[in-house]
Amino acid sequence: MDVRYPPEAEQFREKVQAFLAENLPARWKGVGTLEGEEYTRFIVNWRRTLHENDLLAVSWPRAYGGAGLTPLEQVVAAEEFARAGVPQGGPNDVFGIQMLGNTLLQWGTEEQKRRYLPRILSAEDVWCQGYSEPNAGSDLGNLGTRAVLDGDEWVVNGQKIWTSAGHLADHIFVLCRTDPAAPKHRGITFLLCPMDQPGVEVRPIRMISGESEFNEVFFTDARCPKGEVVGEVDGGWAVAMTLLGFERGESAAVYPIMFRADLDRLLDLARAYGRADDPLIRQRLARCYSLVEIMRFLGYRSLTGWLRGAHPGPEGSVFKVFWSEYHQLETELAMDIMGLAGLVPEGRPPATAFQTDDVGAPNSTASWAGTFLNARAGTIYAGSSQIQRNILGELVLGLPKEPKADAGSWAESHRA
Ligand SMILES: Cc1cc2nc3c(=O)[nH]c(=O)nc-3n(C[C@H](O)[C@H](O)[C@H](O)COP(=O)(O)OP(=O)(O)OC[C@H]3O[C@@H](n4cnc5c(N)ncnc54)[C@H](O)[C@@H]3O)c2cc1C
Repeated sequence: MDVRYPPEAEQFREKVQAFLAENLPARWKGVGTLEGEEYTRFIVNWRRTLHENDLLAVSWPRAYGGAGLTPLEQVVAAEEFARAGVPQGGPNDVFGIQMLGNTLLQWGTEEQKRRYLPRILSAEDVWCQGYSEPNAGSDLGNLGTRAVLDGDEWVVNGQKIWTSAGHLADHIFVLCRTDPAAPKHRGITFLLCPMDQPGVEVRPIRMISGESEFNEVFFTDARCPKGEVVGEVDGGWAVAMTLLGFERGESAAVYPIMFRADLDRLLDLARAYGRADDPLIRQRLARCYSLVEIMRFLGYRSLTGWLRGAHPGPEGSVFKVFWSEYHQLETELAMDIMGLAGLVPEGRPPATAFQTDDVGAPNSTASWAGTFLNARAGTIYAGSSQIQRNILGELVLGLPKEPKADAGSWAESHRA
């Protein structure tokens, strides 16, 4: 393991640091210090500033609005943003930039790249992800939303679910069944579908935290132009898998920084509640400290392999299981430290439903109770812990492959 970045990357780091010093207010403590309107306004303006300074999609080619730099420089920027407590973009950029944009660079036609990529960066198009369905989550190949060609348009009928930030989006990339007679992983097409039409209805789902961050999306004779297919018609599975490969983004570099800052907050919480001398609490804090250090080294291992040109392999699954299960352990400890006070949350709640609260967030009962509830989802989204362990069992331990019950066509396995 040797994470020494080449000199060009370190020079770029200095540039990013200078940019941050110039563009953030004096005595900036992180976006967690803001709430309500002020928070929303900051995120919108910050995203615009990143775009104007070519820092939204550092590694995209210049021809499509990127900065034309390397993926390593993208990692360096993400690290510096995490340290400064500012986001890498807006709430839908994980879908637009990280997932779809990177996938279009690999699979899109020249016309799709020229049309969509600059519009993603300018926020003219705001994207969400239409993969999961009530009967297709871990077993995504089971999906049943149908798309049928009618002249120059696809007609889409069906339902997606758990669509994060779907209420903020005006476009959805949607996996549709286009050939029911084919085996289930074939006969799927990846469509780029506008949401601003009568056939698309977004219904919010209320989460355990009381927030409504994700949604159901219903398609009733929704229309999508014939050419808005990424990859081949009926060949969408390969595109879908490429996109999932981008889902983790720079997490190996960024999460250890975020979780370390969160641990410092937890130590302050223990002191504030007079629990820092309690031997049982101290043992659990020490365990959290050790686990965050392990997370750091796991991240380094992934980065080292990647810097040497290795493809991210099963260590991505190790990292996913590790951070998401750690987050539950950490937030359970926070709840135990707060005791009854944690049951009547007060103060600024977390602004996001994912991972830790923002850097600079007050050490309030609402912050910890909110992240405690949000952490329940971490072991489900982006591949549940059980699925990650299946991957590790098969790819690392060489255990026999899981038996597949359904062979034959999708239509045969869905006959009543
Ligand atoms: C906060 C959040 C945001 C999300 N955002 C999006 C989004 O924007 N777009 C989108 O398309 N989806 C999104 N999802 C959906 C997410 O991808 C699915 O929830 C996930 O893939 C699991 O699918 P499922 O919920 O259908 O559970 P299921 O697949 O039904 O699984 C139920 C349980 O069975 C276990 N299980 C299933 N199969 C196996 C197996 N073969 N071996 C062992 N155990 C198994 C699972 O681990 C789980 O514990 C989001 C989910 C969450 C929680």
